[in-house]
Amino acid sequence: MSNQMQMNAGAPAADERAFIQQLRTTFEQLPNDIDLYLFTDPAKDDVFSQSTRQVVRAFREFTDRINFREYNLHHELASKWHVDSSPTLLISPEKFSIRWIGAPMGEEARILLETLILVGLGKSNLSDQSKKVLERITSPRAVKVFVSPSCPYCPQEAVNAVRAVVEKPDLISLEIIDIQCRPDLAEQYSAHSVPQAYANDLLIGQGAQQEEVFVSSLEKLEAQTIFIPDSDAELVENDLVIIGGGPAGLSAGIYAVRSGLNAAVIEKGALGGQVATTPIVENYPGYPQIGGKSLVDIMVTHALQYVQIFQGEEVVGIEAGFPITVQTSRRKFKTKTLLLATGASHNTIGVPGETRLSGRGVSYCSTCDGPLFKGKKVIMVGGGNSAVTEALHLKNMGVDVTLVHRRDSLRAQEFLIKQLELSQIAVMWDRQVQEILGKEKVSGVLLKNTRDGSVSEMPLDGVFIAIGYSPAVDLAVKMGIELNEEGYIKHDEKHRTNIPGVYSAGDVEGGYKQIVTATGQGSSAAMTIFEDLIDPYWKKN
Ligand code: NAP
Repeated sequence: MSNQMQMNAGAPAADERAFIQQLRTTFEQLPNDIDLYLFTDPAKDDVFSQSTRQVVRAFREFTDRINFREYNLHHELASKWHVDSSPTLLISPEKFSIRWIGAPMGEEARILLETLILVGLGKSNLSDQSKKVLERITSPRAVKVFVSPSCPYCPQEAVNAVRAVVEKPDLISLEIIDIQCRPDLAEQYSAHSVPQAYANDLLIGQGAQQEEVFVSSLEKLEAQTIFIPDSDAELVENDLVIIGGGPAGLSAGIYAVRSGLNAAVIEKGALGGQVATTPIVENYPGYPQIGGKSLVDIMVTHALQYVQIFQGEEVVGIEAGFPITVQTSRRKFKTKTLLLATGASHNTIGVPGETRLSGRGVSYCSTCDGPLFKGKKVIMVGGGNSAVTEALHLKNMGVDVTLVHRRDSLRAQEFLIKQLELSQIAVMWDRQVQEILGKEKVSGVLLKNTRDGSVSEMPLDGVFIAIGYSPAVDLAVKMGIELNEEGYIKHDEKHRTNIPGVYSAGDVEGGYKQIVTATGQGSSAAMTIFEDLIDPYWKKN
C-alpha cells in the first residue's frame, strides 16, 4: 500500500472520497482475488465477530475482488485449517498461512487492508535488502504479532510480518492477535505491550521494528537492533533530506517542496512522532478537539501531496560535507542540506525492575497498551501535561488508574488539572517510585514518600510512565553537532547548526515542545534552507 493510503477517518470528506476511489482502482488492478474465511461461534456472536463482519463488509463495498465466506467454528473447514478461536479470519488460506485472531478494529483495519492488497498482488514489496535476508531462512517460522486497535506502531510491525509470509509462504506463517479479544493469549505470552512479535514462540521484537531489522530478527530468532545494508544500496540525490516525520519534519517537507526544493522525509518509526500517541489534542488551531492519530493522518495526507516520505527506514550514518551523505537501511542519499527533526524519546525513571519489566506491565504508551489493562489497577507516574492527559485516557478506557507524582503540585496546564479533578482520578502526592516489582510481569511498586522518606508497597498490574522526553540527538552528536547546556541541538534563530548545511527543528531544539511550535520551526527552517541554497552563507566566509 502506498503512503497515500495511510489516512483514516480523521481526514476531511473530500479526501476520503478520493481515498476510496483510489482503493477501488487499486483493488481492480490486483492480479488475484482474495478469499476471506471467517470462523465464528454462533453461540457467542460477540462484538468481535460482529466488528470483523462489519470491517469485511466495508471493504467489500468498494471491491468485488474479495470473496467472503463465514463458517461455524465447528465446520469441517475449521478443523482442516486448525481454527479453534472465534472470530478467526483466514486470508487466502489456500496460498498463505495468515490468520487474524480477534477483530481488525481501529489501526488494525489498516493492517488488514494492507494485507488484502499484498495478498491480492501476490508480491511482498519487501526491499531487496530484506529479501536477501529472507533467502537465508531455510526452516519454518511460525510468527505471532500482538496488536491493539489504538496502537499507531502496530501496523508497521504486523505488515512486516505479512510481507515476510507473502515472500516466503512455504516457510513462514502468521497469526495477528488482537489483545482486546484475546487477553488470555497476551497473558500466556506475557505480551503486556504492543506490538510484540514472536517467532517459534521466541520474542523477536518489541515495538515497531524497521523492516530489515524485523526480517533479520526473524532469521536469527532473536530481536536485532540495527541493520547495516549491503554496499549496493540505491543512491538518491536531493536538495534537502529531513530526518524525522513528526509535525516539524512534515511541515518542513511541505514548505520545502512548495519552494521548489527536491526534498525527502525519512522516518524510522510511526509518522507523527509523539502526537501519534497523544489521546486527544485540544490546542492545535483549527481543531478544538481531535485525536492525536487523526491529526497526524491529516498532516501526513497533506504532506504526501508534496514530499516523498521514506517510512520505516532508519538512518544508520551521516557524513557531513558538500554534499552530505545520509545512509539509511535501504539507500544512500547525497543531499545539499539536512534538517534534523528527530524529536525526543521518552524518559525512563531508572529504577530497578523498569527495564526488565518493560512490555511486561511497564508501559510508556497508554494509547497503545491501555486496552490490556481494562479493569486492572495501574499507576501513571508524572505530573506534566502528558501524565495527566494519559491518566484521563486510561480512566476513559475503564482502567483503574492512580496518578503518582513526586511533588505536591502538578506542572500540567490548569485546564487539564480541572479535568483531572472532575474525573475523580486518585492522586498520590509526594511519592517517588523506588522499585518496580514482579517476576514475569508487574505485580506492584515500592513507593517512597518524598517528605518523610518512608517506603510502602502498592500491589498493581501496570506502571505507566510519562515523565517527559529527552531530545533524540544521537545522530547529531555522531556528526559533530554542538548541543546546548540542556542537551538540545544548539542553533541560531534561523535553525542553522554549527555544521554548514545542517539545520534543526522541533522538539530536538528544546523550547515549548508544542505541536504548533514544531510546525512553525519546521516551516521556518525550510524557508531558511531555501534562501541559503540560493545564497549559501557557508560560501561567504
Ligand atoms: P514535562 O512537562 O517535562 O513533565 C514531566 C513530569 O514528570 C514532571 O511533573 C516531573 O516532575 C516528572 N518527573 C520527571 N522526572 C521524574 C522522575 N525521575 N520520577 C518521577 N517523576 C518525574 O513532560 P511531559 O508532560 O511529557 O510534557 C513534555 C512536553 O510536551 C512539555 O513541554 C509539555 O508542555 C508538552 N505537552 C503538551 C501537551 C499539551 O499542550 N496538551 C500535552 C502533552 C505534552 P516535576 O514536576 O517535579 O519536575
